[in-house]
Amino acid sequence: VVDVLAAEADGTALVVDYKSDRLEPGADLEALVERDYGVQRRIYALAALEGGHAGCEVAHAFLERADEPVRASYTREDVPRLRAELEAMAEGVLAGRFEVAPEPHIGLCAGCPGRPAMCSWELDMTGRALPPA
Ligand code: SF4
Repeated sequence: VVDVLAAEADGTALVVDYKSDRLEPGADLEALVERDYGVQRRIYALAALEGGHAGCEVAHAFLERADEPVRASYTREDVPRLRAELEAMAEGVLAGRFEVAPEPHIGLCAGCPGRPAMCSWELDMTGRALPPA
């Protein structure tokens, strides 16, 4: 599910994902997107490119700083790299390892059904805020 998928006249796709994250003052939005939504933007781009679009721009728009969307552009030439990066990111799961996150935080863990009982981290660790990106 994406917030916006627009087919541009030149055959490229524009994907917009709105984010309601609370932002620390001066947060580096590019670093934040890469840390928290890097998998997501690669999947969006790969889906658009594999779906037949000639290119794809993925924009993450934080509502607190809506005039500074974080943009990444991809072309069909990026498909092998996107696949390789996603496979590397999913390597643990693909290998059957389901380890807890090395840096738990509330943004990641709040909706996790394993948090109350199954996770090996204490609740204060899975409930903490991460330092600003
Ligand atoms: S609560 Fe534990 S298992 Fe769930 S996402 Fe966080 S670190 Fe992973």
